[in-house]
Amino acid sequence: MTDGLQERIYNFSAGPAVLPLPVLQQAQRELLCLPGQGMSILEMSHRDAAFVEILAKAKAGLKQLLNIPDGYHTLFLQGGARLQFSMVPLNLLKGSTRTAEYVISGSWGSSALKEAQREGTTRVIWDGKATKYDRLPEPGSVHSDPDAAYVHITSNETIEGVQFQREPELGPAPLVCDSSSDFLYRPLPIEKYGLVYACAQKNAGPAGVTIVIIRDDLLARASDNLPGYLNYRSHAQEDSLWNTPPTFGIYLVGLVTQWLLHEVGGLEKMHQRNLAKSQLLYEELDASQGFYRGHAQAANRSLMNVTFRLPDADTEKAFLAEAARRKLGGLKGHRSVGGIRASIYNAMPVEGVTALRDFMREFRSQRGRG
Ligand code: PMP
Repeated sequence: MTDGLQERIYNFSAGPAVLPLPVLQQAQRELLCLPGQGMSILEMSHRDAAFVEILAKAKAGLKQLLNIPDGYHTLFLQGGARLQFSMVPLNLLKGSTRTAEYVISGSWGSSALKEAQREGTTRVIWDGKATKYDRLPEPGSVHSDPDAAYVHITSNETIEGVQFQREPELGPAPLVCDSSSDFLYRPLPIEKYGLVYACAQKNAGPAGVTIVIIRDDLLARASDNLPGYLNYRSHAQEDSLWNTPPTFGIYLVGLVTQWLLHEVGGLEKMHQRNLAKSQLLYEELDASQGFYRGHAQAANRSLMNVTFRLPDADTEKAFLAEAARRKLGGLKGHRSVGGIRASIYNAMPVEGVTALRDFMREFRSQRGRG
């Protein structure tokens, strides 16, 4: 029997996505029995003191990595980022006379807006649709109403591959960020945000757990009439144990935070690695004399999802097939836009990105464009 290690490919999937190998190996070692607990994490009550400690450790790991100031709650929820598309307006907008403002920088921001429209008044303050979401607003060009209920951005658009490398200065309204596909890729000044949410299955853990970091004053806004699960206060008051939380997911998020803290050396180091990895691919795009055409404008390129096209659909098909033969998987672009997408999240090793870059170079020269 093999342990599966030899069969692993370089997985460029956009999510669920590659996880750090040491995290998987620890989970594998502990799956039958958590040290000293007589049972697996999968079998343990969420009220068990050992699980309460696992949850506290995951929270403490995030607090340490992101330097989360006092005055914020960190919640572990279910329902994915899409439930947050609704929970954000349900808690922060519904029933108020104010407007929620949205910056639409891609497909996910657009989906978030649709859900918010069901709950209250919204206004789009910038939309990149006219250029197929290949760019972000020019810094300083967009301003939110100071009285807005909140202003929503998507820090990294997973499908189009555009990313805010730092917080846009939009004004004093609480900044709400869907950080699903770049959470933990760099240090984040949490104090600039009212609320940050992220599904875990790209950078932070497995599918099934969603992290919400919310400023305490925003917890007070929701009506008591909201269904209990949908009210952030329920989860904040019970420390994410209002109902049974996704225990295995929280355990893995905890292991990922430990990996980032102790093996990577923190988010500043992670950021440097991510810059270097993405540069390998973008340099290859730029050197390809138009053979590989990047989707995003250079100033707004994502460090997480590198999106590009080849000269035609047949060449893209051949590229994907040949990549798969070389154990480079998950490269097909999102079904809504096509093309190629290389997702190079935190856990993708530089060796994987180098292997992809080398393959891209070779493929291009085979096609007479080297
Ligand atoms: N927002 C972004 C930026 C995403 O990339 C995704 C998933 N790809 C979502 C939201 C939706 O997440 P979920 O499937 O967990 O609801």
